[in-house]
Amino acid sequence: MTLQPTNPVWEKIDAHIEENTDYWIEELARLCAQPSVSAQNFGITECADLVATMLREQGFRAEVMPSDGYPVVYAEAFGEGDGRSDKTLLFYLHYDVQPAEPLELWDSPPFELTEREGKLYARGISDDKGHIICRLAALAAVKDAMGGELPCNVKFIIEGEEEIGSPNMPAFVEKHQEKLAADACIWEFGGVDHDGRPSQALGMRGICYVELSVQTASIDAHSGLGGSIFPNAAWRLVWALSTLKDQNERILIPGFYDNVQPPSQRDLEMLAAMPSEAANLKQMFALDGFLLGTTDDLALKTQAVFQPTCTICGLTSGYQGAGTKTVLPAKASAKVDFRLVPNQSPQEIISKLRAHLDANGFTDVEITFHGGGRPAKVDPDDPFVQLTNETAELVYGKQPNVAPIIGGSGPNYPFIHTLGLPLVAAGVGYPGSQVHAPNENMRLDYFLLGTKHTARIIEQFAKK
Ligand SMILES: [Zn+2]
Repeated sequence: MTLQPTNPVWEKIDAHIEENTDYWIEELARLCAQPSVSAQNFGITECADLVATMLREQGFRAEVMPSDGYPVVYAEAFGEGDGRSDKTLLFYLHYDVQPAEPLELWDSPPFELTEREGKLYARGISDDKGHIICRLAALAAVKDAMGGELPCNVKFIIEGEEEIGSPNMPAFVEKHQEKLAADACIWEFGGVDHDGRPSQALGMRGICYVELSVQTASIDAHSGLGGSIFPNAAWRLVWALSTLKDQNERILIPGFYDNVQPPSQRDLEMLAAMPSEAANLKQMFALDGFLLGTTDDLALKTQAVFQPTCTICGLTSGYQGAGTKTVLPAKASAKVDFRLVPNQSPQEIISKLRAHLDANGFTDVEITFHGGGRPAKVDPDDPFVQLTNETAELVYGKQPNVAPIIGGSGPNYPFIHTLGLPLVAAGVGYPGSQVHAPNENMRLDYFLLGTKHTARIIEQFAKK
């Protein structure tokens, strides 16, 4: 397929998006004014209801569905078969946001949309409420350009637990497979890199998040009393942790690498074509160098996303206050995350971790599973991926960066594997969005570009 830079339908689409910008900003202000902090259960059900109302106002049939956690908003356009093409496009999004704290670092109130110098500020404006509005604006424009009718079936699944790890998404998708059946899926994020180049992520690593804890006595003891004859929880934990990984970054849990699928030639080619982030990262974090002394760019890119990890995220034990306290801690704990690559799974890692600790005499180290998800990636040669990349190039005037997989994690596995969908990223983000941080913002120009891009994907998808 070779697409022309534009055509009369796209011109109509673009005009509709531009003429209605103020309206969409008002809708965005309305959505951002409703707090929806999943970590604090703050405004969640109210926001689910608001999102359903807003979808209904746009002509979708919407319902707030229960899950084993917070409700999921499901919506569809006019029911099965009403579109001109019988194909169905599914949008995955989330209505929950990260906590706004620390409040004092915001230059304007987090739940009040504020415009300054071409940027709109509010908690969740980029992650992910701007994307919800982007999809609605794109669909309205396509509908308008196509004589008032959507060119294909459209479904929305908008969850309220993405920011707390989507613990119930796999089960929800499994349970509602038929309802969610579609031909392709547009993911919740997307946008441009530092150079304004559109970015495509074809996969995400999985994650297995655990807490390891040890208790060696009922209460802390005087170290002069216990130091020579009591077991020390902090030492037990440190010794156990030290068996997990060696100083060459090799994870020592037997069988840990058994299911690791190495990157394909195609994966390596895509990594090689991506711009190097090494200098940026070194500068941003004031690093002397990278783990294992890796300097080769492709080796570093590969290590960054195709290697599973074992990361100590936090360690707690004993006394850490001012001065000294001669104490023998009764308890110690560590939070540890494993980033997983295809085809590892969190369940597999937990059982191998348990077996490893037991085999090394650490039956006293307890494992608490705090959540996880499997890694997944889509085929870069899927026609829907190609369509997304080609339309991105036409909208942004720059070839997209295509990442075969990114280091972070998300609930894409059930969409790719349970529903069997190709899944692409397209959206309104940019590196200065400050998602999860104070002064989260969205650039208005990128909102318009991301919406035009989304609209072209919808319009072309219905044709193919
Ligand atoms: Zn987020």
